[in-house]
Amino acid sequence: MARRIQHARCLGCDYDLLGLAPAGKCPECGQEYDLASGMGVKSEAAAAMERGDRIVLWFKVGVLGGLGVVAMAVGGYNATRAADWTRPLLIGVGVGGTLLALAALVWCVDVLERKQR
Ligand SMILES: [Zn+2]
Repeated sequence: MARRIQHARCLGCDYDLLGLAPAGKCPECGQEYDLASGMGVKSEAAAAMERGDRIVLWFKVGVLGGLGVVAMAVGGYNATRAADWTRPLLIGVGVGGTLLALAALVWCVDVLERKQR
């Protein structure tokens, strides 16, 4: 029984090859592929790992960025109510800004890592 390929994506451009001829050229970039031998096809493990990496990345950036925005909003809101508005505003901007900078840093590191591959 032939192994069923669940995630057949072009090695060159990540185009979804499912539903196409078992062997031929990628309609997107012209990369030759053969589903039976796996030539020119991104391996399932590699594709799954890439997806997992991306989900983890989005999660990290989303949580850090979201907390940063919340911290800034809370600081801004408290500043409008407090007698001395500078302290809550500074804390909010400081904490929020740090979290947003961390989110940007995590994102940049991932982009740089991806470029090196
Ligand atoms: Zn392609």
